[in-house]
Amino acid sequence: MAATIPTLPKIKDRCTKDGDHFLWKGFFNKKGTPLIWNGTHMVDVRRVVAALAQGAKPKTVFDNLPERAWAECLTPGCCSPLCVKGGNRLEWCAWRRDSGQAKKNLAEAIRHTAIRRSAKDIKLSLDIAREIRQSNKGAAELGREHGVHKSNIYRIRNGERWREHMPGVSIFTMAAAGVSD
Ligand SMILES: [Zn+2]
Repeated sequence: MAATIPTLPKIKDRCTKDGDHFLWKGFFNKKGTPLIWNGTHMVDVRRVVAALAQGAKPKTVFDNLPERAWAECLTPGCCSPLCVKGGNRLEWCAWRRDSGQAKKNLAEAIRHTAIRRSAKDIKLSLDIAREIRQSNKGAAELGREHGVHKSNIYRIRNGERWREHMPGVSIFTMAAAGVSD
């Protein structure tokens, strides 16, 4: 399916106006990024909006997208050219840092890890993970002992699961996430 040539008014038409914000009515990915068809695949609407707002020609805009784009208003789904900024990966990282997004996501990740680890039906614990990491037994045997698939044992041993520390996490980020341990 060929892409329709995107212009700012056409994108606005595919949004619901909410005060100063334009909320995308089309597709989103799992992370909540609004998506538009470029003729071969889906791309971030905000990258298109950022390029158009900076004067890119609608006909060739898909070939001239910024590496990243984000809505500075933090409104989920907002594609307003007044809220959207585009830039390279470094500029995006700087924005995430300055706006507290990076910290917020880290705090969320810590909270989710804590919730997962305290689930009632969970078969493993940090103590068991330590034992598994120190054990000389095979993954299949340890899996049988603990009632989990051996892939869980591999993941514990390679540091994917039940990590002692998350990278970049300090007691301050733990406190911000409302997690004490
Ligand atoms: Zn907005």
